[in-house]
Amino acid sequence: MIKQKLLKQFLIEPGSEVNLKDYVTDWTETDEAKELGKGFIKERAAEIMEESRKQLDEIQELLYASNTKSVLIILQAMDAAGKDGTIRHVMSGVNPQGCQVFSFKKPSTEELDHNFLWRYMKSLPERGRIGIFNRSYYEDVLVVKVHPEWLGPGQPADPDKKFWEKRYEDINNFEKHLTRNGTLILKFFLHVSKGEQKKRFLERLTNPEKHWKFSEADMEEREHWKAYQKSFEEALTATSTKRAPWWVIPADRKYVARAIVADVITTAIQDLDLKYPEVSEAKMARITAARAKLEGNNNDES
Ligand code: AMP
Ligand code: MG
Repeated sequence: MIKQKLLKQFLIEPGSEVNLKDYVTDWTETDEAKELGKGFIKERAAEIMEESRKQLDEIQELLYASNTKSVLIILQAMDAAGKDGTIRHVMSGVNPQGCQVFSFKKPSTEELDHNFLWRYMKSLPERGRIGIFNRSYYEDVLVVKVHPEWLGPGQPADPDKKFWEKRYEDINNFEKHLTRNGTLILKFFLHVSKGEQKKRFLERLTNPEKHWKFSEADMEEREHWKAYQKSFEEALTATSTKRAPWWVIPADRKYVARAIVADVITTAIQDLDLKYPEVSEAKMARITAARAKLEGNNNDES
């Protein structure tokens, strides 16, 4: 487990104004990391991944058995920040039956004809499950804020500040509703630098095995870097709440990002203090009777 003291720097204190410059993208460049040394950090990150994988598998089974809570994990980031790889690595030890991943792309006409939360509501995890949103309703105050022309029918052509404030309010109310109904919400912003994004895009252009990942649209969106960072700052400021705070994860080093996300998820589910359902006296009696019957019948195995 990562020490709370260290983790705290990545958590957005509810009510605080977010300036992304205050959050590191490469944690290994901080003084505290330099003291530990890169070799040590890499090893420790691998250990944390291993521990978390095992614990997450166990706690997921308990989540399923107790059937009282659900977990919603939200991942948001600029392109190439490592959302997909994080999901793959963090969830790799978990029983596939216990988790669901939904990736949200540009909305369809049908989706645009509904309220903006509609398509996400349909994909929420049921009790006992872990649901992962690879992009989420936050896109509707991020990418759409950068490109208001993508708002869809019935929406203002030139949305003002109030319009976005109402969306933040809708999101906060929606999350309040979910947490009140037993959903633990964990929100991660993978914070990558513009320089690291450039490196990763270049890798996609030079490595034939990564060509498939290259998208001209991603290149275009890179031109709007500043507008995106501003949208993120405004959205994170407005929606980091006590019940569903945001984590700003330094994402320039994939092993750092994955270890922190894995640790936060595992610890948060463990903190739910779930219990296996208690077996009633009547059921215990039936279990004892069934066992006696099975053990007593030695002649029916042929
Ligand atoms: P990718 O995740 O790389 O496959 O890209 C999915 C694309 O869909 C991204 O460019 C997102 O910005 C875009 N997208 C996701 N949600 C929305 C939304 N609600 N409105 C407009 N674009 C979206
Ligand atoms: Mg993309």
